[in-house]
This record gives sequence, structure tokens and C-alpha cells, in this order.
Amino acid sequence: MKITDIRIRSFRTYADSWDRDHGVPLPKAESIQTVTTIETDEGVSGHYFGGGMRGDLYGLSASEQEVILGRVKSLIVGQDPMDRELIWKWFWVAANIPENIGSVIDNALWDLAGNAAGLPVYKLMGGARDRVKAYASSHKNMGQPEDYAAHALDCKNKGYLAYKIHPHYFWNPDTRQPTPGRPSNIRADIETCRAVRDAVGPDYVLMFDPWGTYMTMEEALLVGRELERLNFYWYEHPMPETRPEMYVRLCRELTIPILSPEIAAGGVFTRADWILRGASDMTRIDTHRGGITGARKTCIVAEAYGQRCELHMSGWGNLHVMGATHEDTSEYYEKGLLAPGVDNDIPHPYLKVNCDVVEPDGYITLPKGPGLGYQINWDYIEDNLV
Ligand SMILES: [Mg+2]
Repeated sequence: MKITDIRIRSFRTYADSWDRDHGVPLPKAESIQTVTTIETDEGVSGHYFGGGMRGDLYGLSASEQEVILGRVKSLIVGQDPMDRELIWKWFWVAANIPENIGSVIDNALWDLAGNAAGLPVYKLMGGARDRVKAYASSHKNMGQPEDYAAHALDCKNKGYLAYKIHPHYFWNPDTRQPTPGRPSNIRADIETCRAVRDAVGPDYVLMFDPWGTYMTMEEALLVGRELERLNFYWYEHPMPETRPEMYVRLCRELTIPILSPEIAAGGVFTRADWILRGASDMTRIDTHRGGITGARKTCIVAEAYGQRCELHMSGWGNLHVMGATHEDTSEYYEKGLLAPGVDNDIPHPYLKVNCDVVEPDGYITLPKGPGLGYQINWDYIEDNLV
């Protein structure tokens, strides 16, 4: 089998979102999505939705599309689409292709392979489980501590097995106004954690992710010690990830597991280095930082060192990596981002079903269809091309 072409379609879509500057829902917010398609001489193809801004929900920008239709296409047309490892190696080592762009191709190649084999991607990799636990991952800047507490309790009552707080970034919850020069609001963050713990009870699993907004060790320690008192499960990406030595110190000082790096460049290679340096207690990757291939490699590295590798963000590729990884290594699927008035279960208009509908017991069943499992509404896409 040979790759004959790559196509990218851009189209208008909509989904509920969150206005982080004003702390209110944005119902049916419009955005531009892209679907990247790899075609072959045997009629089998693979698709991938998104990849821009490193998420499933964001289309590729014009300049990202140019890279795919230029350098990437000239590299891989004529190649065997089953040679994913070879292509992955070219992107990382030889061609210096941006991580998210190489990831779009890797995700689409896995979809293609699954379509050719008639198997879901996770079964093709080697299935470890058919269902995964979901946690509710909040939007940032949701309001006062009591707003978070009510939302966490609502998620718990809906069956979610855990809840993660994204607190207040570049925002003051008292004035509900952006604070461009001040990334964190530690007093409000701590009050939010306390209010949420009070609301959900002592045993419910809680996580906390201030997204690198704590600028000093003292800030990170102050909040980390409070999280320990409140029996939180993990402390994610507390400080900028450009300074791993601070993470080594933080891991030594705290008993709560530090989950990082989240967004540092370098995919599996950076994660392996952080583990060896003692800069993380749990590692983190997603399928936009090296594709499904890179995310699965990261899970294997983590398993070898007895660390968890918790998948970052939601989406089809991440779900399949979890399906191919035992719960002992990758435990929780990040469902979100969620907030009051934001419905993540309405299917996107370009797909007939979502990948991650949470069932009453808090689990998500892996997609059963071949490849990534997309059921694509091509009529909607053709009617909304841009
Ligand atoms: Mg995070």
C-alpha cells in the first residue's frame, strides 16, 4: 500500500464553550475545524479532526496546513502508510516538523491502519481494557469557591469518579476581571480547594491544576501543603515547565504526587528525562505531542519506571492510547473542559457520536468502530466548507 495524497478540509462548526475573561458560558460558540485525510492507492484512507492549538477541537491554521501540504506531503507520498515508526522518526529527527503537525499525521495513519484492518486503534495496538474511568475537568475562572463547590458536587452526582480544579489564571474572582500582569490568585485558589473538598466529602478523588501560574517555590509549596492537608490525589503543572530543577525540589519537598510535564516540548524524550531527574512523580502526555505513537511510547517508559502516565486533555486518540494501556499506568480520562451551562455531550455537528459519553457508573466505553471510530457527517462538512 502507498500513500497517494493528503487533503485538508476547513469548515465552520460550533460547540458550547466558556468565556474565561468574564466567567460565563458561551453557548454554541463558532469555530473553524479541519479534517486531514491521508489517501492510498488501495482506496483505504485515514482521517483526523483538529490538531491546531494542540487539541482535537481546534482546526489547523493556514500556516500549519501549508507545512502539511508542502514539506510533509513531499516526505510521505509514495511511502507505505503502515510504516508509522519510520515516518515518526523522520518527523522527530530528520525533518524537524512541529510536534502538533507530525501528530496529526500519526493520528490519521493510525485511523488508516485501523480502517484497513477493520479494528479499533486500541485493539490494533493491543487492548488492555474496553472502558476507562472519567474525571470531570473544570474550566478555569469559573467564579467564587462556592461556584466550584456546587459544580464539583453536581459532577459527582452525575457519576464522575473524580474532579479536577482549574482555578483562577490571570483573573480576579472577586471582580471577575482579567489581571494580565498577575497570573495567579493563591488565596482564592486555596479557598476554592477547601470549598470543593467540603462539598464532595473526604474520600472523593480530587486533582488540582494551576497550569504553571505559580512563579516561585514558596507559592508552589504553600498551595501544595494545603492540597496534602485536603487529601488531593495529584498536583499538576504548578510552575512553569521551563525550569525542571524547581520541580526536582518540589517533588522532594511534597508527598502529594507532582504530575508534569504537561506542555513542555519534546514529547516522550522530555518526559523520560524528567522521570530520570526526579522532576515528576506522575508523567503526562497527549496525542498532539508525538501522536498516538509518541503517547503510547511515553506510557511504556512510565510503566518501566513505576510511574503513572496520565493522558492530557480529551479526545479520540487519547482514549485509544488509554485502551491500550493498563489502568495501573493510565488511570483517569480527562473529560472536559466542563462548567455550568456547558454541554460536552452534544455530538459535534460533523460527527454522529462523541467518543467520550460518560456512563452512569463514571466510565467511558472505548469506540468500537474501525480506526479511531469516527462516524463522519460528510454532508455537514461539505455544506460548511470555508
Ligand atoms: Mg492540565
